[in-house]
Amino acid sequence: MIRRIAGVIIGSCLMFMLYCQDKSIGDVIEVWGQEPKVVSTSEDSPPSDALILFDGSNWDAWEQKENGKPVEWNLIDGSGVVLPGSGYIQTKQSFGSCQLHIEWRAPLDTAGLTSQGRGNSGVFLQSNYEVQILDSYRNKTYNNGQAASIYKQHIPLVNATGPPGEWQKYDIIFTAPTFNDDETLKNPAYFTVFHNGVLVQNHVDVKGVTVNSGKPYYKKHGPRPLSLQDHGNKMAFKNIWIREL
Ligand code: MG
Repeated sequence: MIRRIAGVIIGSCLMFMLYCQDKSIGDVIEVWGQEPKVVSTSEDSPPSDALILFDGSNWDAWEQKENGKPVEWNLIDGSGVVLPGSGYIQTKQSFGSCQLHIEWRAPLDTAGLTSQGRGNSGVFLQSNYEVQILDSYRNKTYNNGQAASIYKQHIPLVNATGPPGEWQKYDIIFTAPTFNDDETLKNPAYFTVFHNGVLVQNHVDVKGVTVNSGKPYYKKHGPRPLSLQDHGNKMAFKNIWIREL
């Protein structure tokens, strides 16, 4: 009897010691007082802390890339449409690392258009690093130049492009490159990209400016505008928003 009571007491003591140990470990790794900012979301609108760059009603946040003049791209039915030949456009504001949401639509009429000639545009982070926009729906081209490629650097993991005439969306997480005092590269840029909700670029490292020919290179820079490409096709855009990271 005495032995049994002693066993129960010893067992209880051991349990209590384990509980105390667990609790103290838990206390050590809990973090209090660093409350993340509250952001509200809904399916049909950007997160509450997003900066709206284009809502389809005006180009107020944008300018022509070449000369800083007002954008000439058209506003049609709540979207912005490339005016072929009028040139690239860019944001008036500069950005570093960010989360970017952008929706685009390639023209329905694809007659006679193939490869890079069909539904081509591009979104350039910091005016330098292009996530390719292309009508890659049953449209063969070089794979590191199809929709959602990091142009001529990284092939997308899959082709999630829907048919021309339908809205597509990119959700892009961009880590800006950093540079040393002597202007050499410290850390490359990185992209993670979702195309229509599908992961297509998984934290890939950027080799430098996404040039059309020659070798990518880095040249020291700070925050820079976001730009959109006029590649001669009447591409439409809507719902462009950004969250700086
Ligand atoms: Mg392009």
